Amino acid sequence: MEPTTRKQTAVAPRAWVLRRQPDNGEDVAFAMTATKPDALLAADPQLAELISAEEQRQAQTLKLIASENYVSAAVLEASGTVLTNKYSEGYAGRRYYEGQQVIDQIETLAVERAKSLFGVEHANVQPYSGSPANLAVYLATAAPGDTVMGMALPMGGHLTHGWSVSATGIWFNAVHYDVRKDTGRVDMDQVRQTALAERPKLIFCGGTAIPRTIDFPAFAEIAREVGAVLVADIAHIAGLVAGGAHPSPVGHADIITTTTHKTLRGPRGAMILSNEQYAKAIDKAVFPGLQGGPHNHTTAGIAVALGEAAQPEFRDYAAQVVANAAALADELMARGFDLVSGGTDNHLILIDLTSKGIGGKPAAKHLDNAGLEANYNTVPYDPRKPFDPSGLRLGTAALTSRGMKEAEMREVARWLDEVVTAAAADPDAVDATITRVRGEVTELTGRFATPGLDR
Ligand SMILES: *Cc1c(COP(=O)(O)O)cnc(C)c1O
Repeated sequence: MEPTTRKQTAVAPRAWVLRRQPDNGEDVAFAMTATKPDALLAADPQLAELISAEEQRQAQTLKLIASENYVSAAVLEASGTVLTNKYSEGYAGRRYYEGQQVIDQIETLAVERAKSLFGVEHANVQPYSGSPANLAVYLATAAPGDTVMGMALPMGGHLTHGWSVSATGIWFNAVHYDVRKDTGRVDMDQVRQTALAERPKLIFCGGTAIPRTIDFPAFAEIAREVGAVLVADIAHIAGLVAGGAHPSPVGHADIITTTTHKTLRGPRGAMILSNEQYAKAIDKAVFPGLQGGPHNHTTAGIAVALGEAAQPEFRDYAAQVVANAAALADELMARGFDLVSGGTDNHLILIDLTSKGIGGKPAAKHLDNAGLEANYNTVPYDPRKPFDPSGLRLGTAALTSRGMKEAEMREVARWLDEVVTAAAADPDAVDATITRVRGEVTELTGRFATPGLDR
């Protein structure tokens, strides 16, 4: 960890204050946060400084990780409250502990906002995160050994859609669909053939590395044809759906699961949405089936995020996320990068680096050193190993939250190109490029506020 020092305040002056450490009297640059920095700094300066360092890192880095975002100061504040002190197993009006006068209102508010934002009859806001939310759906609708179907992990699916190393692949008979090698897109004929041959009880659509629009009506037709329950896992695109920048699965999928911390821009958590038909089974599966007490501080943060997502500005945000991804994709392709499926419809871009002569892992490492934070990823039909794959996954949700637009995306593409090209040419001589790009990135990030760090 870099020590936090006085001179770092020069980089993002609005977000930083100097605080005297009680134990040694030294000044430490401390970020303005929505939490109570004074209390934390006094009680645990070591941890306070680590959090300060992470705040600084997030402020000075171009966050291109497709599953991440910056929550607002309001969401941050709600998430760090005394609500963490309360046990409330059960649901509003049906709890196992006393003292729920306020908690019931908070959870009900979150539930009502979720139902209204997405236009569904039922919402469960208690799942601890996306993976347990999906497990709750299995518990509610299937039995161990049943056949389930989802997109294969190396094609862009999620572990919890029945991949072999996941409990969902160990406890269920999981079958998978792919994307076409020539188009990089889901082949709905293959989905239908596999579904007809395997007769799955559950079909998952959605995933973690899908740059294209998900065809919910086509999946629904196949699910109906084979008598399967259709689950739309919109973890990545929930914010785009809420903001009208991606078609909604409502009216097509039987059950919708989503994380709350990706494009939806809430705290780390998840929701399960459905019509009344599945409400009881899902509530029972979440509690007592899988979980104990809900994380009430997170529920409050989710409620705040849902309130934000219902504002007209959030529609502008969602549209800009997509416009930014399109601009980034265009500039990358103009610079000779191959993109899986040849582009993007949403917030996500999957680069196949094969033609650039470098693996995804070393590329991601060099980019991180230059201040561009992304993750290495398999590409469909990847000839390389999963822990050293050919792809690099990018997303524009976080940069858009900082107010960046198309012009900044073209800069990002240029830096990406410069670092990747230099690293592919000579890994030992890449340092000069990294140092220069790091400086330019710091200059850019200094011009854009970091949500949650400014107030
Ligand atoms: C992120 C994600 C999940 C899992 O969420 P966690 O909160 O990491 O458990 C599930 N499904 C999809 C499609 C995701 O992208």
